[in-house]
Amino acid sequence: MPALVASDLDRTLIYSAAALALTMPDARAPRLLCVEVHESRPLSYMTETAAELLTDLGDAAVFVPTTTRTRKQYQRINLPGPPPRFAICANGGHLLVDGETDRDWHARVLARLADECAPLSEVREHLLRTADPVWVRKQRVADDLFAYLVVERELLPEEWVKELAAWAENRGWTVSLQGRKIYAVPAPLTKSAAVHEIARRTGADLTLAAGDSLLDADLLLAADRSWRPGHGELADAAWTAPGVHALPERGVLAGERILRELLRTVRTPR
Ligand SMILES: [Mg+2]
Repeated sequence: MPALVASDLDRTLIYSAAALALTMPDARAPRLLCVEVHESRPLSYMTETAAELLTDLGDAAVFVPTTTRTRKQYQRINLPGPPPRFAICANGGHLLVDGETDRDWHARVLARLADECAPLSEVREHLLRTADPVWVRKQRVADDLFAYLVVERELLPEEWVKELAAWAENRGWTVSLQGRKIYAVPAPLTKSAAVHEIARRTGADLTLAAGDSLLDADLLLAADRSWRPGHGELADAAWTAPGVHALPERGVLAGERILRELLRTVRTPR
């Protein structure tokens, strides 16, 4: 029986230059591998050691990249190791099988959203009406499923985020602030639902997970064991739960530690 490893990508396994959080002297910094190029520039990194660990993990378990990124944003990432058979994009809205979206899964997700929460148009309109152009840089819709803003974090009023979260909750939506992005995502659109489906299809007898943000909480709770780094929304809220390991490492070194823990656990006889 295979073990299933579902991990968030951004700020869990891969890191932008701004998120590396390197604190050692430059001469002792780990060597970094660029795993994403965007508009001809390097964008995301992992340590060389993390790249080796991920390669081994891909051989030892069913590794499932589990991201809020759109399919297009996911597909420009070039992860080391064997190409994953399954991937989860758009926070569970798309389940990719050998790189192609599973249409049945997507139809089931759309039906559930139509039943259980306010439509995207209503949330978009609210965002457009209430967000201040002084601190909004971009407004985006992701895969026709959810919305996010790119903001000037220093200018963003904390109070506005709180009000948005309360407004959204009443309509069956969740708000997550990650770096320069504020996401508004339907509450029933979850990574864990898609991971359950992959566990069913693969017959996995153990599910491990990792993630750093509020949108990963359901994923971490649904797994048999899970890890979160010492940075990010969950760490900031000191969020924890049974079976969730809160690691002290921050930044790109947390990614390396997470992969070490995942691989060690997968290799432990059960
Ligand atoms: Mg993340």
